[in-house]
Amino acid sequence: MVEKLDMFCYQCSQTAGETGCTVRGVCGKEPTVARLQDNLLFAIKGISAYLYHARELGYTDPEVDAFLERGFYSTLTNVNFDAAEFVNLALEAGAMNIKTMNLLKKAHIETYGEPVPTEVKVGSVKGPGIIATGHSMKALAELLKQTEGTGVNVYTHSELLPAHGYPGLHKYEHLVGQIGGPWFDQKKTFSKYSAAILGTSNCVLLPLDDYKDRIFTSGVAQLPGVQHIEDYDFTPVIEKAKSLPELEDEPRDTVLTTGFGLSTVLSLAGKIKELVEAGKIRHFFVVGGCDSPKPQAKYYTEFVEKLPQDTVVLTLACGKYRFNDMDLGDIEGVPRLIDLGQCNDAGVGIEIVAALSDLFGMEINDLPLTFVLSWMEQKAAAILWSLLYLGIKDMYIGPIIPGWVNEDILNVLVENYNLTPIGNPEEDIKKMLG
Ligand code: SF4
Ligand code: SF4
Repeated sequence: MVEKLDMFCYQCSQTAGETGCTVRGVCGKEPTVARLQDNLLFAIKGISAYLYHARELGYTDPEVDAFLERGFYSTLTNVNFDAAEFVNLALEAGAMNIKTMNLLKKAHIETYGEPVPTEVKVGSVKGPGIIATGHSMKALAELLKQTEGTGVNVYTHSELLPAHGYPGLHKYEHLVGQIGGPWFDQKKTFSKYSAAILGTSNCVLLPLDDYKDRIFTSGVAQLPGVQHIEDYDFTPVIEKAKSLPELEDEPRDTVLTTGFGLSTVLSLAGKIKELVEAGKIRHFFVVGGCDSPKPQAKYYTEFVEKLPQDTVVLTLACGKYRFNDMDLGDIEGVPRLIDLGQCNDAGVGIEIVAALSDLFGMEINDLPLTFVLSWMEQKAAAILWSLLYLGIKDMYIGPIIPGWVNEDILNVLVENYNLTPIGNPEEDIKKMLG
């Protein structure tokens, strides 16, 4: 049994036993403050990821930059011992994250066009190939430009699936499909396909020896012993792909639909209103976030499987791989499964929820809508605080309660927001549908 520490901080020379303050800071820092500092740092890391990808496309925001400085500084030794202020800073981080996700969306749309619903075939076709994984649309776009006319096909993996919805990326005929699913299948998937692999961001794993010589990283991603590509010059990746045995034609029976942009969803607004008023759509669910290999994450598959036919699921990020191969059909032309894209497209989700709130003249918390979140890493922390900043209540969260949340923090989240851990899918659905 691993001992649960009240806190852990070893950032200054006063640290207990010269190894770490684990019960209370020698400086007087309380465990809840230490945990809220970690929470703020996690949210800041999440924002930084989105900001990085926006900057890749030339988009920046000085207000967000200034917040990041202030947020980091507030966690330095002997600056701020006030737990309530760290909750305020986390909410402010949520607001800044919304700004950042919107900035990144603007960057994506102005560079590659607004996404449109697009069917993506899963599996390989005959010929040499490169599998691109991660989140960087810029890296994928540069790779597509450089592979055009070379005979090398490009596949997305994990969170690059939504790239297919962008007209400026979809136009490349050699962007032929998707291979694999969420980030954690990569060792199995990359071993199986004799393709070159490009990791463009986080969610790259230390490679197995059998593909270590054909995986490359770019941007912020780096792996020891793996060639890192600078300045988007993917020549070594393309040369590697050409040198490998060709991929084979697979049946490609699985087809995933991605790329629902704000305009597409808003174009359905009139129909959605009519269907809700006629009782044909009973409830909306936002089921999304990061996917996790934890056994508890099976919840999300069962949850969507068991939803009644008069409900609609909005999804985003790689949590969708738990159910995006299911055919949920449609309700008189409104798809029952709407994939908004990457985790940063939570910003689009927020705009859709705001539009639903206008459409029905209701506060967000009064809408027939429930958020069912899955988290893996720190971008999800930023998104959670964005939703809390908007005052959204009664959300469900899994697969586990974050480890840095202690009883005090959980009490705040439950008392103020009724944040609820996922439980049994059937019982949860009953509760959500009232
Ligand atoms: S900042 Fe405080 S809690 Fe952290 S190591 Fe120093 S004394 Fe300990
Ligand atoms: S959605 Fe989350 S877990 Fe999935 S690839 Fe992106 S960051 Fe990683």
